[in-house]
Amino acid sequence: MTSTTSPARVAVIGGGVTGLTAGTELRRAGLDVTVFERAARPGGVVAAVRENGWLRELGPNSLLEGTTEIAEFIDDLGLGTRRLYASPEAKRRYIVRGGRPMALPVSPLGFVTTPLFSVRAKLHLLGEPWRPRGRADTEETVADFVTRRLGPEFLDYAINPFVAGVYAGDPRRLSVRQAFPKLFAIEQEHGSLIRGALARRNATGGPKGRIFSFPEGLGEIAAAAAARLGDALRLKHHVGKVARVDGHWRLGIAADGREETADFDAVVCALPADALATLPISVGPEAKGLGTLGAIAHPPVVSVFTGYRREQVAHALDGFGVLMPEVERGKILGALFSSTLFPGRAPAGHVALTTFVGGMRSPELAAQDDEGLRALVADELGRLLGVRGDPVVFRVQRWPRAIPQYAPGYARFKETMAAVEREAPGLFLGGNCRDGISLANCIGAGRRLAREAAAFAAAPTSRGAE
Ligand SMILES: Cc1cc2nc3c(=O)[nH]c(=O)nc-3n(C[C@H](O)[C@H](O)[C@H](O)COP(=O)(O)OP(=O)(O)OC[C@H]3O[C@@H](n4cnc5c(N)ncnc54)[C@H](O)[C@@H]3O)c2cc1C
Repeated sequence: MTSTTSPARVAVIGGGVTGLTAGTELRRAGLDVTVFERAARPGGVVAAVRENGWLRELGPNSLLEGTTEIAEFIDDLGLGTRRLYASPEAKRRYIVRGGRPMALPVSPLGFVTTPLFSVRAKLHLLGEPWRPRGRADTEETVADFVTRRLGPEFLDYAINPFVAGVYAGDPRRLSVRQAFPKLFAIEQEHGSLIRGALARRNATGGPKGRIFSFPEGLGEIAAAAAARLGDALRLKHHVGKVARVDGHWRLGIAADGREETADFDAVVCALPADALATLPISVGPEAKGLGTLGAIAHPPVVSVFTGYRREQVAHALDGFGVLMPEVERGKILGALFSSTLFPGRAPAGHVALTTFVGGMRSPELAAQDDEGLRALVADELGRLLGVRGDPVVFRVQRWPRAIPQYAPGYARFKETMAAVEREAPGLFLGGNCRDGISLANCIGAGRRLAREAAAFAAAPTSRGAE
């Protein structure tokens, strides 16, 4: 049992980016932290593999430096000088229309002249500032919100592909308030997205959001955090039980074929929704569990990495990548121009592409075997980018439950988590099922969890004083 003079003992369950952030922050704050990760490597869905001069990301490919806390976290990990910002060409993003990639306009003149949107759609957009504000007390889907404010063509050729790229999602099945809270807030605050965007651009302060990674990919975050944690990070440790016992938290842990228990003053659960839903957390006879979180939809996504000799690809690959609107009836969600985005992803004279298949739109396509995916990717990249011949490298990474979908009604899941926390002092829940799905959100979540657990541990009543 911990004495009140020694640092408080905090367990972090889950060694993805959320848990690693919480763990390193708690350690920096001087607490006695242990991070339990059931896999053999840290990072969760964040992992990069270097192979024969190719660098492929298995999960996320880039991180947005949208807030000072992201920059601080990267600097605290000692990775400040290793930041690799996306190449300037990556500002160009392609959307498929009429079966071919068209650059998304980035300037007012580009908007006027682009063939991506019809004249009618452009004129409709100009009326946006005068359209009435939506009601704050109703929950709208992303599709309804965008159609109301910007018109149906912007839904089809801008937001639908964007939502596929970020959530692997369907705008008809996402809540704008939950999935894009900033967009929702801009309309509520300014009455218009255009007026709000202009006001925010004119306002000073806050770093400009830049996209970055590292020379060896985002896995560098997991490696640096693991190095900071040292033996406080326990890999291949599966937490199977969390119980409130005598004013402490007792964890049941399976490791090396053995079952063990360990006691802590506070517990941070940095887990995906399905793991939270099945983790037995016993607080007391009245406490409700987190089982309902099992109902949160997570579509499957397959990430297919292909490498080619430069001359096999006709397209200039002068951008971030290409996204597929659903109305175009393509079989991919999109493809990243990985070797344009960051240097060092392909050997000299070669290019790398990362293609995403599946999502809410077409989960059945993600279920194909590797040979089916090889043919699908060859067909799609062939017609869109003029890719010819067999890839030099072909690798498949499957994510059967990729990204939580913040659907209408999602607030009830957040309320469930808050209710369990209220009943369980010293238990803190967060991650991509509560705090937002991006890596930046997860780093923010880890820091929030660390602050809350540290504040709890510092309170005189927190340790065994029930
Ligand atoms: C294919 C894909 C592409 C993406 N692309 C981007 C992108 O480009 N940019 C971006 O910002 N975001 C992207 N995201 C989203 C982002 O990567 C994730 O939301 C984020 O990494 C989730 O981190 P996490 O730590 O909350 O969860 P996870 O990474 O899921 O980590 C949870 C960890 O908990 C462990 N665990 C589970 N149960 C237990 C248990 N009982 N005991 C111990 N350990 C347990 C798991 O093994 C896992 O390591 C992408 C996601 C996917 C899947």
